[in-house]
Amino acid sequence: MTVSNNIQRPRAVVGEEHTEQLLRATIMMVDDEPLMLEVLELYLSEEGYWNFVSVSQSTEAMAVLQREIPDIVFLDLVMPEVDGFDILREIRADEATKHLPVIILTSSNDAATKLKALELGATDFLGKPIDSSELALRLRNTLTVKAYQDQLAFYDGLTGLPNRTLFLDRLKWSITQADRAETGLSVMNVSLDRFRAINDSLGPLAGDEIIKQAASRLASVVREVDVVGRLAEDKFSKGLARMGGDEFSILLPGLVDESLIKLVGDRVLSVMREAFTFEGYDVYSTASIGVTRYPEDGADSDSIIKHASAANEWAKQQGRDNYQFYQQEMSVRANQRLILVADLHRALERGELLLHYQPQVEASTGRVVGVECLVRWLHPERGLILPNEFIPLAEEDGLIIPIGEWVIREACRQAREWQLQGLDKLDVSVNVSARQFRQPRFVGVVADALSSYGFAPRHLVLELTEGAMMEDVDETADLLDEIKKIGVSISVDDFGTGYSSMAYLKRFPIDEIKIDRSFVAELPDDEDDTAIVKALVAMSQLLELRIVAEGVETEAQLEFLRGLNCDVIQGYFFSRPLPAPDFAEFVTENRQRVSIELIKGVAG
Ligand code: C2E
Ligand code: CA
Ligand code: CA
Repeated sequence: MTVSNNIQRPRAVVGEEHTEQLLRATIMMVDDEPLMLEVLELYLSEEGYWNFVSVSQSTEAMAVLQREIPDIVFLDLVMPEVDGFDILREIRADEATKHLPVIILTSSNDAATKLKALELGATDFLGKPIDSSELALRLRNTLTVKAYQDQLAFYDGLTGLPNRTLFLDRLKWSITQADRAETGLSVMNVSLDRFRAINDSLGPLAGDEIIKQAASRLASVVREVDVVGRLAEDKFSKGLARMGGDEFSILLPGLVDESLIKLVGDRVLSVMREAFTFEGYDVYSTASIGVTRYPEDGADSDSIIKHASAANEWAKQQGRDNYQFYQQEMSVRANQRLILVADLHRALERGELLLHYQPQVEASTGRVVGVECLVRWLHPERGLILPNEFIPLAEEDGLIIPIGEWVIREACRQAREWQLQGLDKLDVSVNVSARQFRQPRFVGVVADALSSYGFAPRHLVLELTEGAMMEDVDETADLLDEIKKIGVSISVDDFGTGYSSMAYLKRFPIDEIKIDRSFVAELPDDEDDTAIVKALVAMSQLLELRIVAEGVETEAQLEFLRGLNCDVIQGYFFSRPLPAPDFAEFVTENRQRVSIELIKGVAG
């Protein structure tokens, strides 16, 4: 028996390579007559095929087949012990081989036999004695069809890379090889860090283009590894695949050495940092990588793959643009996150989200002039969850868009209700995440919420973080202009934490800045923070922006900020964020007190 050592499936059916690809096919022949096998091989060699697996012992056929994964099988029907029908039945019953083309060799012209073979799933027939040209034709046709089907089933249409199915297949095979050779392997799960944002802001065509460019960069790294590393005997099993979306996997058979894996990881990170181009523009992203090693990190292909994505997730949480080796805690975390994301999907439908309201107080008068709406999640089992725990998940998942829409609508509804109750002249601030802001419908959503509840645009303030604004300054400027057109105000949240320069601030139509609470926390004792806050306030005053200081907890902080002529104060010193009824009560009391103080002031 000759056994091939080539498990590669035919690759893409394209142009000139086509014939060469077909000739590489692994052809398995099962016939109890050795002479027949020899004849077949002879004819096929003349046609240029070379990759044969011949089996004369029909009892061995299935085992050989599962090991060799041929592209096609020639199968004799009449054999002792296990006959062709049995084998055909088994082939069709096995998930891995059920689509494998099987050509039946038969000397019988008996229609019933043929019918039975067809019913069992025979692909074609070839009469004995064999006619060499008929053989060549049947084989070629069948392989062409198979290659085409493989292309659809096993390769990604956009990049031409193997898809998830084929990758899993190869991984399984490589694991068997690794076991046999008592070596190991590693898998890298690579994903782009800004893909969603790119897709959302530049559109799916840009997304496709970036994926293609990323694929070819990764392929070049894999080739380098191939040349330099000589990692595995079996070069066919090594490789790169597109797992879906912006996610790729690299299989590195034989590679378990941490420092070598790190070299590959560094290479991948560095090629992904370079600018991608779309329609002449530079688009920047980075990659995050999760690494798993077999056998330490997982006992089978499924857990290896799953753990590689958990490690990737971890890398993203560590700030992106890095790689992480899998550790067990990551799975636990990843599971918790997954559960939370699934819960969050239901939270919206079940009305588990709510807003709390934190008063904003005018520094000079002590009067409540505004309110920041802060979302909370009343989880049925876990109780109240704060936004820092679920907003980042929602952003990643895309859920931030419906959640953000709900927040804006709910804020407008509640604010209008208060107005009707006499609690008017309050500016209502709503936090908006970058992804939400950059979705095409955003301005429409805001306008719609305002008109649905009859809330005046001039009382609505949208808070965008400095970081979110700086992501794509040209686009930001356009979007902010649109928002201004409908009469809504804009506030820069977490001001001071980003890298905005005066120049940008001047370009954007901003009304307000909120000094980040990290600068407020150490006031007035910390010299650096004191200096920074002074500078931020001076800069904002120069640009005639309203200044809100957030996170004010103490009287000393308040006095310091008042001294700088900061306009509005927000923080626990006045109040924590409150449920709607408590907030209404707070404002009512505040107004009574302020007017009494005013009267006293006038009287005194
Ligand atoms: P943020 O926009 O900076 O909101 C201010 C946060 O500071 C709030 O936390 C608030 O409770 C807290 N805070 C207020 N005063 C004080 C104080 O005196 N001391 C201290 N230590 N903290 C104070 P919260 O409600 O947990 O919200 C956290 C973040 O979640 C917010 O930070 C905001 O970025 C985000 N967020 C909240 N609601 C939404 C929303 O509806 N949409 C989006 N996209 N993000 C939201
Ligand atoms: Ca805010
Ligand atoms: Ca803030």
